[in-house]
Amino acid sequence: MKGMIRKCAICGEYTLSEETCPHCGGNLKNPHPARFSPDDKYSKFRLALKLKNKEESQRT
Ligand SMILES: [Zn+2]
Repeated sequence: MKGMIRKCAICGEYTLSEETCPHCGGNLKNPHPARFSPDDKYSKFRLALKLKNKEESQRT
């Protein structure tokens, strides 16, 4: 696999730069977020709930 292609979050240009967009200097994002799904927005909530339950179980 060669360099990871990135997509600018601002102008939408694809680039192989690993830092910022060479076109507009915007932040780059991975155009293929294979490991993320829309359900992942709940993962923080699930983790928080898990930690909360853990704290409560330690208290008792
Ligand atoms: Zn850009």
